[in-house]
Amino acid sequence: MEEQYNIQINKTENSRIGEIDFNNLAFGRTFSDHMFVVDYENGEWGTPQIIPFQNLSFSPALISLHYGQTVFEGLKAFRDKDGVVSAFRPEEHAIRINKSAERLCLPTIPEDLFLEGLYKLLEVDNEWVPKQEGCSLYIRPLLFASEEFLGVSPTPSKCKFVIFASPVGSYYSGAIKVLVETEYVRAAEGGIGFAKAGGNYAASLLPTKQAVEKGYQQLLWTDAKEHKYIEEAGTMNIMFQIGDTLVTPATSTSILSGITRKSVVALAKKWGYKIEERKVSVDELVEAHKQGLLKDAFGTGTAATITQISHIGYNGVDYELPPVEGREFSNRASDYLQKLKDGQEEDYMNWMVKL
Ligand SMILES: *Cc1c(COP(=O)(O)O)cnc(C)c1O
Repeated sequence: MEEQYNIQINKTENSRIGEIDFNNLAFGRTFSDHMFVVDYENGEWGTPQIIPFQNLSFSPALISLHYGQTVFEGLKAFRDKDGVVSAFRPEEHAIRINKSAERLCLPTIPEDLFLEGLYKLLEVDNEWVPKQEGCSLYIRPLLFASEEFLGVSPTPSKCKFVIFASPVGSYYSGAIKVLVETEYVRAAEGGIGFAKAGGNYAASLLPTKQAVEKGYQQLLWTDAKEHKYIEEAGTMNIMFQIGDTLVTPATSTSILSGITRKSVVALAKKWGYKIEERKVSVDELVEAHKQGLLKDAFGTGTAATITQISHIGYNGVDYELPPVEGREFSNRASDYLQKLKDGQEEDYMNWMVKL
């Protein structure tokens, strides 16, 4: 990519990299040496900078703290077996943060600025991309209203865009038990469910906590109107295999359009599987299970890529799914994506952007 922005770089003199045990990385608690920052004020983006990772300081009147005007992204960079660093579909994340931003009345970020900031940060903090297999550098772009003001405003006079990064280990959790949620909702049609916004996460915490107390790891969210149709699995998109057809809820204003979901749908098509993006009702799943046709269920998302589901709880019954070993499609997709990121598979979809 041609550089268009003059990113100012101020490197730290005290790298923390020596303090990190890359063989024991806990998720999201250690951060790389630098961060990318750019401020929006008076209707325009200012000078982009890479600075040492540091605290930000604000008045308690920071409007995003009060009114939730904040959106984010999550993507990963990997180091392949030859040591080359690449990011998985970064342009998609640059596009999506702007869809989220528009819904929450935040200024959009020029895609090139997002990408240039990201690539420059990866260049400066290259050593932070783990070499260990299955590990990655998790990247968190964050955009929020940074005006200090108690009024509610669709045009905050100040906003901040930050990209910072955290080295993470492999996230494999084993197959999970999920519970169909029929009382609470994560997001309603017309709301902000499709945006990657903090408020959606806040809405999901209490119901998820209650499901965990009942022995499940995640919820299967249903539609807000009738609690009849499946929407997402926790903070992942969801896919089923009914007979020989893969089925995933069509995206809507209450479903986040995952880049992993989009990638898995594209792989299914490429590999010649039947795949449908449409409404999936809980009744359809129960009926398919009765007939022995519910072959697979799995969540998709950047954190764990593919998370297979072992049981679906609904109305006091735990519907058990076939053993994960025999699940052809989700194992194949999971394996392909893992190896692709480690540079052991051909990138025939052109998803990896090499630095
Ligand atoms: C981030 C997210 C996903 C997964 O999106 P990816 O782009 O695949 O990481 C799914 N659902 C929700 C609610 C999310 O926030």
